Amino acid sequence: MGFTVSIDGPAAAGKGTISKAVALHFGFAHLDTGLLYRAVGAKVLEGAEPLAAALALMADDLDNDTLRRPEVAQAASKVAALPAVRAALVDFQRSFAARVGGAVLDGRDIGTVICPEADVKLFVTASAEVRARRRFAELSVKGLAQSFDEVLADVQDRDARDMGRADAPLKPAADAIEIDTSDMAIEDAVAAAVALVEAKGA
Ligand code: C5P
Repeated sequence: MGFTVSIDGPAAAGKGTISKAVALHFGFAHLDTGLLYRAVGAKVLEGAEPLAAALALMADDLDNDTLRRPEVAQAASKVAALPAVRAALVDFQRSFAARVGGAVLDGRDIGTVICPEADVKLFVTASAEVRARRRFAELSVKGLAQSFDEVLADVQDRDARDMGRADAPLKPAADAIEIDTSDMAIEDAVAAAVALVEAKGA
């Protein structure tokens, strides 16, 4: 089995950037597990039944710009509260994590449920205001402008749903190392993550 890094945390804390950079640095494969839930959420918005959509998910479904839209994020967090949908996505994530060449998975429950034996577990967080500011800037560049207040409400809504659900709620694993990026430049957060992974023998 290869080296596995789990990176969990709430929306827009910097997980995606850190995960990609860690994967690149160590030559590991990277899976953004949020895309799985977003792809299921997108199909549900088109009228599909959530479990059927999860069971029929294909690699091509993950490569779609519309998955970044705010309404898809909300739909994702709703389907992510359904235990049957989560169960349907477990095997794919675990096989990915076991890649011989090493893997980084980012999400909400990687260190707690998907890969409890991960070699390194990071929990990347930041205040809701800081995360909403970052997400607002990203969405504005893509022309998907909502007001700042709408973006903040969206982030807080998803936090509440992701932390409050009964099955695989968002929380740090007992042995996760926390990186709070609220007052950090993203390059410094990446450097901290790389150093932590290196220190664990990657
Ligand atoms: O990470 P991202 O914001 O793309 O995730 C979208 C939604 O998918 C999250 O709000 C969460 O509800 C769900 N998710 C999850 N477990 C994961 C990854 C994402 O429940 N491992």
